[in-house]
Amino acid sequence: MEAQQGGTIEVQPVYFIKKACRRLGKEICLPMSTTQIAAALFQLQQLDLELERFGAEQQAVVSSLKGTAILQQLRSEQNMAQQQLRSALQAQNEAEWALEDLVNRLKTKEQRLYSGTVTNPKELSALQQEVQHLREQQSRQEDKVLETMDAAETLQERVQQKAEALQRAEEAWAKESAALVTRRDQLEARGQELQTKRTQLTSGISADLINRYEALRRSKQGRAVSKVEQGSCQWCRVILTPSELQRVRASTELQMCTNCGRILYYDR
Ligand SMILES: [Zn+2]
Repeated sequence: MEAQQGGTIEVQPVYFIKKACRRLGKEICLPMSTTQIAAALFQLQQLDLELERFGAEQQAVVSSLKGTAILQQLRSEQNMAQQQLRSALQAQNEAEWALEDLVNRLKTKEQRLYSGTVTNPKELSALQQEVQHLREQQSRQEDKVLETMDAAETLQERVQQKAEALQRAEEAWAKESAALVTRRDQLEARGQELQTKRTQLTSGISADLINRYEALRRSKQGRAVSKVEQGSCQWCRVILTPSELQRVRASTELQMCTNCGRILYYDR
């Protein structure tokens, strides 16, 4: 078997094609012509191209199904906002307890001050000062409580916003991933179908020829076979001479394009 750029591939031994014979009422094997072999290789190429496309889409779908980066980010943002809210509520509680403590202390001191039990002027003046001091402290603590309440409220809103964003993203993802899962299953089924067809097709072609085809496919951008259309190679557009055209149509050997080196297939 010899094949060079612009040369020929000798087809040996003769390949057979199974055909149903009505007269004999059974399947008979007929020798395959070079045109039929080129046609089979062309069909194989169409299958391989389709399998390639499906493979690429399948990979994209599988990686999309893994890709929940946005959801993960939203979840972590929501967690962080919740943590901040918990700290803020804790700070608010502490400020309220401190205020309550001040209120109680002030109340006790005021009761003592206005009870009339303290008569010593020095002691009375000290008590008054203490009450005054506690009132100032209370006022400052009230401001602090308001500040912490404000902060907690702001964070509460943020948590709410994050939760809503996350929910929207989760709903969208559920829809999207359902469609992706459906598509993945479709691609898998179609891929298997194509693979079965390919096996059937290649079982009728010799291993030598398949190897030759595979090698050409690898070196020629996945296109080992080129159709002849309007007297020229469909792939590289080179115009075939009348004698080349004649050989493609009638030779017992597979013909190659003299320009691009692909197997020529003449589709009657
Ligand atoms: Zn060509």
